Amino acid sequence: MDFSLTDEEKAIRDTARAFIRREVMPLEQEVLRRERAHQPGITRDELRELQLKAKEFGFWGLSTPEEHGGMNLSAVAQSLIWTEIGRTFVPFRFGGEADNILYYANESQKAEYLIPTIEGERISCFAITEPGAGSDAANIKLSARPDGDDWILNGEKTFITNGNDADFAIVVAITDKEKGVHGGGSTAFLVDRSMGWKSEWIQVMGEGGPAALVFDNVRVPGRNILGEVGQGFQLGMQWIGKGRYIIPSHAIGLCERALQMAVDYANTRETFGSKIASYQAIQWMIADSETELEAARWLILRAAWTVDQGMDPRHSSSMSKLFGARVANDIIDRVMQIHGGMGYTRELPIERWYRYVRLLRIFEGTDEMQRLIISRDLLRGYTKIGGHLA
Ligand SMILES: Cc1cc2nc3c(=O)[nH]c(=O)nc-3n(C[C@H](O)[C@H](O)[C@H](O)COP(=O)(O)OP(=O)(O)OC[C@H]3O[C@@H](n4cnc5c(N)ncnc54)[C@H](O)[C@@H]3O)c2cc1C
Repeated sequence: MDFSLTDEEKAIRDTARAFIRREVMPLEQEVLRRERAHQPGITRDELRELQLKAKEFGFWGLSTPEEHGGMNLSAVAQSLIWTEIGRTFVPFRFGGEADNILYYANESQKAEYLIPTIEGERISCFAITEPGAGSDAANIKLSARPDGDDWILNGEKTFITNGNDADFAIVVAITDKEKGVHGGGSTAFLVDRSMGWKSEWIQVMGEGGPAALVFDNVRVPGRNILGEVGQGFQLGMQWIGKGRYIIPSHAIGLCERALQMAVDYANTRETFGSKIASYQAIQWMIADSETELEAARWLILRAAWTVDQGMDPRHSSSMSKLFGARVANDIIDRVMQIHGGMGYTRELPIERWYRYVRLLRIFEGTDEMQRLIISRDLLRGYTKIGGHLA
């Protein structure tokens, strides 16, 4: 068994790290200052400028096929890069990306939605969650009824990331109530904001915030169906599936940085005449954090590797999302504890991470939903215990 990265993976990781250090991290103090003044940490133009700078460095479209100008990196390489991005709390991501399901677009939709999204000229959001259907996404009610060549959308979506900024939404709607989502009764639509949907910002614990979207007799041309009629839920699950190894990859980057802060603090802070690093209580928190981080790292990289092998990644991705999110919460909690009162202040980013990582246990499938998937795979015999070693 060889746990080493290839030379190419190391080179990509190190170049991403250098870019984040040189170009992104210097913005951190300004991001904190703005967020504390209730402003966005970074504007859309500033993000775009950084992304174009990264493009010169060679980073553009991590998962985007080469025919669309992207890097088309392996899942393992993407995971490594997301860990590097996680080291900074500047709300940064590399440009040149589009939602994975936008590749189901036909040629004219590609020109209108996919390409401008990759180029950063348009912003998308993906909307499946509703006030009455989150974990139970199959229970969505937003309806689309045919009217000539058009469809009329009515209903509400909630907690939609980018929902306030997006100029189009990928919306999963019920097109045949009788069939239900599992029987081909749902469809994905590309819906421009100009077609009439409204959004309202939802204030949350972390920075930024999702939005509620309202569709009141929104008329959508039939040519805006993404994929096939009846394919909506399937596309929705595919969209969500990808985040399950990317989200924890990002989280371990921030945990590595935070843990290093805790180590440095423990080596300088003195109480009762000694460095707090000399106390076993502190040492154990550091040891547990490092051990969990290492375990999470390999679980996540293995999930990414499973994707690269073309194997069904569902089981390993759910384990990495469940474990990665849990570990991130435990580590940031300990890092705050080691910093004492300072950890709780807004002078340091720890309280920001603390608020952010709590989300990881909720969105894109709660802890409980990941457990449901993992246990169901075993109980129904889809996966054997330790079967991935076979
Ligand atoms: C900041 C943020 C961004 C988001 N971005 C998006 C987005 O871009 N697009 C989008 O479509 N959605 C998005 N979501 C929605 C997110 O995916 C849902 O919030 C999540 O799936 C949980 O659904 P819910 O909030 O309705 O909770 P519920 O489904 O109501 O669950 C409540 C609790 O019950 C538990 N539970 C539910 N069913 C079971 C069960 N069978 N067994 C055991 N426990 C159960 C859950 O795990 C949870 O603890 C976002 C949410 C947040 C907070």
